Amino acid sequence: MSPTRVLVLNSGSSSVKYQLLDMSDGSRLAVGLVERIGEETSRLKHTPQGGEAREWSGAVPDHEAALKAVAAELAKDGRGLDSPDLAAIGHRVVHGGKHFTEPTVIDDAVLAEIERLIPVAPLHNPANLTGIRTAQALRPDLPQVAVFDTAFHTTMPESAARYAIDVETADAHRIRRYGFHGTSHAYVSRATAKLLGKAPEDVNVIVLHLGNGASASAVRGGRCVDTSMGLTPLEGLVMGTRSGDMDPAVIFHLMRVGGMSADEIDTLLNNRSGLIGLCGDNDMREIRRRIDEGDERARLAFDIYIHRLKKYIGAYCAVLGRVDAVAFTAGVGENSAPVREAAVAGLEGLGLAVDGELNAVRGDEARLISPAGARVAVAVVPTDEEMEIATQTYALVGKDGMGSEGD
Ligand code: AMP
Repeated sequence: MSPTRVLVLNSGSSSVKYQLLDMSDGSRLAVGLVERIGEETSRLKHTPQGGEAREWSGAVPDHEAALKAVAAELAKDGRGLDSPDLAAIGHRVVHGGKHFTEPTVIDDAVLAEIERLIPVAPLHNPANLTGIRTAQALRPDLPQVAVFDTAFHTTMPESAARYAIDVETADAHRIRRYGFHGTSHAYVSRATAKLLGKAPEDVNVIVLHLGNGASASAVRGGRCVDTSMGLTPLEGLVMGTRSGDMDPAVIFHLMRVGGMSADEIDTLLNNRSGLIGLCGDNDMREIRRRIDEGDERARLAFDIYIHRLKKYIGAYCAVLGRVDAVAFTAGVGENSAPVREAAVAGLEGLGLAVDGELNAVRGDEARLISPAGARVAVAVVPTDEEMEIATQTYALVGKDGMGSEGD
């Protein structure tokens, strides 16, 4: 029997999220998270399939220790990293630049390229690299696959991917629009086509990935033609803590007139802007609660968030020409009926509408929320980045690939 399990690792700067999936039936054998790595109060939560969650708190000094702790938890379930059933480890890698258009089996050259991209992803790629190196040290014989957040967006035409700045300067510094959340946009655009009973090649979809980070994409026939994030995940929509689009001259102004350094402005725009900068909260549940109590700042933050979202929906209707569906996904998109309602309100002229009752229904399944017979389907489509990473990883190394040696 070929091994059929894939461990998916998503290594952030201070956390490791993981899932162990069995690709023979798509079941999730374990789901877990190590957070606050490097602090005294690190926390691990591990939930085996059909079992009680196990939680543990203490000092996890680094990613190596975190991964060893994960391996120990998996071993308690009889599914340790040394298991012969493990086919591969799939790693989420945030920045794959222009050239990684597909999931890629990791070797030294791939590691070197991910490292070379650190200047354009200073927060994410170093953590991803640490996760890969640690996993390689624990299982040097096992195929490890990088699945890039940017890959789905590499089909964007140059007209969408290039900034209108001097070409030589842009190329010298690899400045272009890469886009992020690609694994989610890929999964959700395909799942939306399935919900409509059509092949991905036959539908045009606007995907709105609204989590703490947020991005929109225009997907024509299964291929991304535009997305709202750019060189970094700062461009585009208003997010939990990031500003999204603004006049770049704001930065010069803050430097020249506000006396701020580049690093201070980076922190301001990435960590202290967006919803949290506007009203002090970045959780949409809390913002809605405050609005219900008559809080004006929360109301304005919500209105600014929605205004930007609407502009992108309109823009991507123009980019696509014909739109078959708009899909809401991620924490806010899947759970916030008021955001979905407000984002689509007044867009009847574009064929978009939401049915109040359908929109209010909660659930884990992909579902339509537009009225029967609507010209454009509006849908809630839960994202599943881990399943997508596992699927792509297994397709590369699974049954007919390098994982089946000796079979
Ligand atoms: P994500 O980054 O996809 O995990 O999304 C996280 C965000 O989703 C949180 O910051 C909240 O703003 C939002 N969220 C999660 N659950 C809900 C909910 N039930 N209602 C509204 N917003 C939610």
